[in-house]
Amino acid sequence: MPERGPIFDAMLQEFDEAARLLKLDPGIWGILARPKRQVVVSCPVHMDSGAIEVFTGYRVQYNVALGPAKGGIRYHPAVTLDEVTALAAWMTWKCAVMQIPFGGGKGGVVCDPRRLSARETEALTRRYVAEIIDLIGPERDVPAPDVNTDAQTMAWVMDTYSMHVGHTETAVVTGKPVEMGGSLGRREATGRGVVAVTREAAAHLDLDLRSLTVAVQGFGNVGSVAAGLLARSGARIVAVADSRGAVINEAGLDVQGLIEHAAGRTGVSGFPRGAPLDPGALLGLDVDVLIPAALENQITAANVDTVRAKIVAEGANGPTTPEAHRALHRRGVFVVPDILANAGGVTASYFEWVQNRYGYFWTEEDVVTRLEARMRDAFQAVLATARAHAIDMRTAAYMVAIARIAAVTRLRGMYA
Ligand code: GLU
Repeated sequence: MPERGPIFDAMLQEFDEAARLLKLDPGIWGILARPKRQVVVSCPVHMDSGAIEVFTGYRVQYNVALGPAKGGIRYHPAVTLDEVTALAAWMTWKCAVMQIPFGGGKGGVVCDPRRLSARETEALTRRYVAEIIDLIGPERDVPAPDVNTDAQTMAWVMDTYSMHVGHTETAVVTGKPVEMGGSLGRREATGRGVVAVTREAAAHLDLDLRSLTVAVQGFGNVGSVAAGLLARSGARIVAVADSRGAVINEAGLDVQGLIEHAAGRTGVSGFPRGAPLDPGALLGLDVDVLIPAALENQITAANVDTVRAKIVAEGANGPTTPEAHRALHRRGVFVVPDILANAGGVTASYFEWVQNRYGYFWTEEDVVTRLEARMRDAFQAVLATARAHAIDMRTAAYMVAIARIAAVTRLRGMYA
C-alpha cells in the first residue's frame, strides 16, 4: 500500500461512503482507493547567495482511466506526499463530475515562495519540470496553476518541456499567459465557477443572490475573483481573510479596492475602508455564504459549531474535515463540495487544452458561456443524485464521479 496520511485518509472517508452507497465492486474499489503513481524528486537550485539548496518535489498521477492526468502544481512549505496524493484524487473525482476527459494528478514542491526571488523560482520550476519530464505531456499529464503558482510559472513549465522535446508544445500545461496559448477566461474560471454554483445553491434554497452576505477565506486567484464577481452580482462581501490577516466591513467591502491594496506586500491587512478582524473569527461570522478558498482542514470539529452560514461553497480543495462536514449536514447547512464548487478552473483548463490542440482560439464570451453551462449542468446532476438518495451534495458528487470512472474501468478491462 502506498504511503498515506491524514489528508488522504480524509479523502478516503468521503470516497468510502459513496462507494458503499453505489455497492461498488470490491476490485474496482481497490483500484480507485489507491494512487496509480507517486513520484518524489530532489531539485537542486543555485540560490542568489551562491549556495545550492535542494527542494523536494512530488507528482502524483492518481487515475488516468478517463484521459491524461490533470492537476495543478503547488508551492508551499507544508506540501507533503500525503497532501499531493489527496489533491490528485480530488482532481480525479472533479474531472469525472464535470465530464471532462481527464484523469487526476497533482504536483507540489516543498518551499516558501515568499522567500524565493523570481530567478530562484524560475530555476526551481525548470529543475522540477526536468525531473518529471518523462511523466508529463499533452497525452500523459497536464499541469496547471495551484497555490502560489501562476501563469508565469506555467510559461516556464511550457518552455522547459518544449526545449526538451525540441518543439513548442503549448498543450503540455494550462493556465498559461494568453499571449502564448493560454485561454481567455482561464484565470478567472475557478472563482467564476464558485459563483455559478453559489447562484445555483441560492436558487435551490429560494434565496436571492443580491441580498446575500458573504465571507471569503483566502484572497488568491479563487477567493479574490469569486468575491469580485459576487459583489458585482449585488451580494455584500462582509469579510475577507488571507494568510496574513483579515478585514471586515458590515456595509460591504470594496473588493476592487481591496484587490489593489492586497497586491502590495501587506495582503488584505491594513485596508483603510474596513476594520481589522481576527482571521480565526471569519468562519464564525453571521453571513449567508461562507467561501473557504485557502487550504485544507479549515472547518474542523473544533470550530464547526461556530459556523452560521446557510451555504458553504468550497473554493479550496479539502477545506472541511469529514467530521465537520457531517455536523454541517446534520444542521442543514448546504455545502457545495470542492470537487464541484472549484471545478471551474480545470474546466477552463480543458477548454485551453482543446484550443491548443486544434490551434484555434475561442472568444472570452465562448469560454464564459460554456463554463457556466457546464457548472450549472454538473450542479443539477449532483443535486438530482443527492435528492434521489436523500444524501448530502458531497457524497452525491462522489457517487456521480465514481460511477463514471467505474463504468470506464469495467469497459477497458485489465491490461496484462
Ligand atoms: N489547481 C486547480 C484545481 O485544483 C486547477 C487544476 C487544473 O486546471 O488542471 O482544480
